[in-house]
Amino acid sequence: MIEFTGVYFDGKTSRAYAVSVVFDGRTLHIRGVEGDYPALDIPLEDCTITPPLGNTMRSIQLPGGAQCQTSDTAAVSALERLTGQNRGMGFVHRLENRWKTAVGALAGLVLCVWVFVTYGIPFLAEKIAYSVPPELAEQMSRQAIEMLDRRFLKPSELDPGKTEKLQEEFQHLHSEIDPDSDYRLEFRKSPYIGPNAFALPSGLIIMTDELVDLADSNRELLAILAHETAHVKKRHGLRSIIQNSGVFLLVSALAGDITSITSTAASLPTLLARSGYSRKFETEADTVAALYMIRKGWGTGPFQAILLRITRDMADYPGESLLSSHPLTNQRVQHLRDIEASMPSGEAAE
Ligand SMILES: [Zn+2]
Repeated sequence: MIEFTGVYFDGKTSRAYAVSVVFDGRTLHIRGVEGDYPALDIPLEDCTITPPLGNTMRSIQLPGGAQCQTSDTAAVSALERLTGQNRGMGFVHRLENRWKTAVGALAGLVLCVWVFVTYGIPFLAEKIAYSVPPELAEQMSRQAIEMLDRRFLKPSELDPGKTEKLQEEFQHLHSEIDPDSDYRLEFRKSPYIGPNAFALPSGLIIMTDELVDLADSNRELLAILAHETAHVKKRHGLRSIIQNSGVFLLVSALAGDITSITSTAASLPTLLARSGYSRKFETEADTVAALYMIRKGWGTGPFQAILLRITRDMADYPGESLLSSHPLTNQRVQHLRDIEASMPSGEAAE
């Protein structure tokens, strides 16, 4: 005996009647739960069991357009087996469930890829960047600067007397911000990229004559140098090219072939000359520079001033600038102001 409860529709009105159904092996006995209606006895062979559709309610078509619906899928499946109806539909039903599984799996896969690209690759790139030996960083940087010297840069025409004091101040700056690495500051003239500065992974920082000429004070230049030092310290150059070079390089580097990273050295000059750092890295470097300036008691004013002046000046140069290609200068200046405003009063005077 098969018993289940369900809902009965007479096929004439939309009214639903709660019913209990008993199958005695030959006939379905359908009885209203809340009254005398309906009271039907229908041979199973006169009924049509509608094929299953996903895991929704099952329905049994009765003679005269009436039907009985139930969520008791097991009971209906048992009836199906007795009548032999919908044979083969079980396969379709399973396929349908597999289709859902497949969509679910695909969504899961997309999510995994997204998580890997958004978090996994930057995380791995950072790990790899910190394990790049100094000789390798040096070699990549040398290749990059040779290429930049050929294409965009000319020897500096600055009076060495003019930069002597700046060199001295830069020594203090990088030994404070990043005492563990070697740094070098060199100057180049560049009518192409204009007032600009960039850092190579080896710790070589290039500043253009045009930027020195544009500055009102060494403090403005020191702010830029602090920003560039932060890029080196946090391995932003290496991390960017590793992140951009994709999974192949990541895999070979993780497998122990760290030298494969030199294959990406060709992308370094472009990264540096086109301001290829992510917004996140720029903000990080700005924060380091701002904190340095505040610690020195200079405030972020000189940094803001030079950023705004570079942006204004850049229209005169054909190349894209590391520091000014962004229409984001206003946001960067606001970030500097926010950092300063968040400092407890008195800190800036230290
Ligand atoms: Zn930067």
